[in-house]
Amino acid sequence: MRIILLGPPGSGKGTQAKNLSQSLKIPIISVGDILRISQNKKTIPIYELNNAILHGKLISDSIIIKLVRMYIQKSKYQKGFILDGFPRTLEQAKATKNFNIDYVISLIVDNKTIINRISGRRIHLPSGRIYHIFNNPPKNLNRDDITGELLTQRQDDNEKIIKNRLLIYKKKTQPLIFYYTNKNIKNKNPKYIEISGIGLEKSITANILKNIYTHKKY
Ligand code: AMP
Repeated sequence: MRIILLGPPGSGKGTQAKNLSQSLKIPIISVGDILRISQNKKTIPIYELNNAILHGKLISDSIIIKLVRMYIQKSKYQKGFILDGFPRTLEQAKATKNFNIDYVISLIVDNKTIINRISGRRIHLPSGRIYHIFNNPPKNLNRDDITGELLTQRQDDNEKIIKNRLLIYKKKTQPLIFYYTNKNIKNKNPKYIEISGIGLEKSITANILKNIYTHKKY
């Protein structure tokens, strides 16, 4: 099964990707996580990467499309994958035409909830595990539950940058909803499913799974 998770920053794509990955037994390709790890490895032009992440801007389509194409060819992803954070532009969406995507899951959350969620978000960088200081705190203060390693706050998780990321989302990514629901395009294959991203994490996952099974292709 091949799934795209669509939604504004802070809509819960990362959290839902992890839950779906566990339930459906398919791996995640999180473009944001790959980029954050690349910041340390310096595998992508570092100036563009740092500058984009710091200001909440998008990395150029050509780099991102190349990166994702390279990933989906890896043997690990041959039986399926969950794409988190890709596509984010029309150009990237067009590149998914031959990815054989089954479902586009679109998470809907309002801006006020997003700003609150993102400012309290903490992550465990090596695994991508996500916490929230109030809504989903780690067992030990600022430590990952599994490894005990220190959690970090993403460079781009502050109110000023979040607002910019939301503007970019509205301008560049929101039009993809039209792209995936437009019956006149050739990319008719994926089933577009809209889900409210507000509520209990597990209920949202259950809702996504229920919708996937309702429209089951397998
Ligand atoms: P995320 O963790 O998905 O919120 O991504 C963090 C940052 O990585 C974004 O603010 C962008 O700077 C960059 N990024 C992630 N995914 C993409 C993408 N599909 N296209 C361009 N830039 C991206």
